[in-house]
Amino acid sequence: MIIVLKKEATESDIEHIVEKIKEHGLEPHISRGIEKIVIGVVGDDNKLINVPIEIFRNVEQVIRITKPYKLASRDFHPHNTVIDVGTTKIGSEELAIIAGPCSVETPEQITFIAKEVKKYGANILRGGAFKPRTSPYSFQGLGKEGLELLKIAKQNTGLPIITEVLDTRDIELVAEYADILQVGTRNAQNFALLKELGKIRKPVLLKRGLAMKADEWVLSAEYIMSGGNYNVILCERGIRTFETSTRNTLDINIIPVMKEKTHLPIIIDPSHATGKSKYVPDMALAAIAAGADGVMIEVHNDPENAWSDGDQSLTPEQFGKLMEKLKQIAQVVGRKVPTFV
Ligand code: PEP
Ligand code: MN
Repeated sequence: MIIVLKKEATESDIEHIVEKIKEHGLEPHISRGIEKIVIGVVGDDNKLINVPIEIFRNVEQVIRITKPYKLASRDFHPHNTVIDVGTTKIGSEELAIIAGPCSVETPEQITFIAKEVKKYGANILRGGAFKPRTSPYSFQGLGKEGLELLKIAKQNTGLPIITEVLDTRDIELVAEYADILQVGTRNAQNFALLKELGKIRKPVLLKRGLAMKADEWVLSAEYIMSGGNYNVILCERGIRTFETSTRNTLDINIIPVMKEKTHLPIIIDPSHATGKSKYVPDMALAAIAAGADGVMIEVHNDPENAWSDGDQSLTPEQFGKLMEKLKQIAQVVGRKVPTFV
């Protein structure tokens, strides 16, 4: 249920409604927009069936939502959510350009790549320390040591960091280092992990599961948001289809679909979507043209010898060329690439 208040609503009107909701064992979430205050009710709102909220003071409208999600829904929060990450605002006019290696490997590697991607216009550094590998025998990431190396790269460049968290037991540790915590495609429906991420207040980038429908993806975001963490960024990284010429199939459709369903920013990861570096630039451009709020690109100084995902990694120079083109596309669709002095 969503309760829309009139402009004149006072704090005591809000408090009165909040108390009623809590009295019935439900959880109120307040969204204070420029024009309206909206209270979302989480839980089984059938419990409020005999409470005539429509006639409470300064209530404009009560909308009983039939969709399975609420907090992530545009009905609850009509304006686009903008998430502050350092000096970057994800979901604003300026695009989020997340770039860096698949895995953090050595101090030299991560610091060099961080400096390079910053030079070409990235505003967030990526790098995996805990890696979700399909095979248990593949490189699993440097763990805490990788986080330390990311910290050094951040100190050297000022770039905020995004890195993946695989396990509820590591959330506290990863949150100490990361500016954004990433949930990978294989964990997109790990509800225990999502619930725990709802308890922190750092932004979470939620990748789409390998075979996840749009509503299932929104519901995963809802798991995080229902814990009170509204800082969720969606990331499409390709889905499983019958097509084998690319690693996955980039679902560009999902950009307008998610923009309609939710108010959350959406980023595209063309690296994991295509699995081949030669296709990455075109798909990055397509993503921005289609309204994505940014891209996440794997960049490596020596793709041939990368410890993971070398075949889909751009060199810094290739990334630089892409950024030149991206700048032009961004202008056409009323967006901007980051600029540094
Ligand atoms: C990654 O970003 O390094 C990664 C493992 O991605 P995904 O979860 O999309 O496979
Ligand atoms: Mn990767």
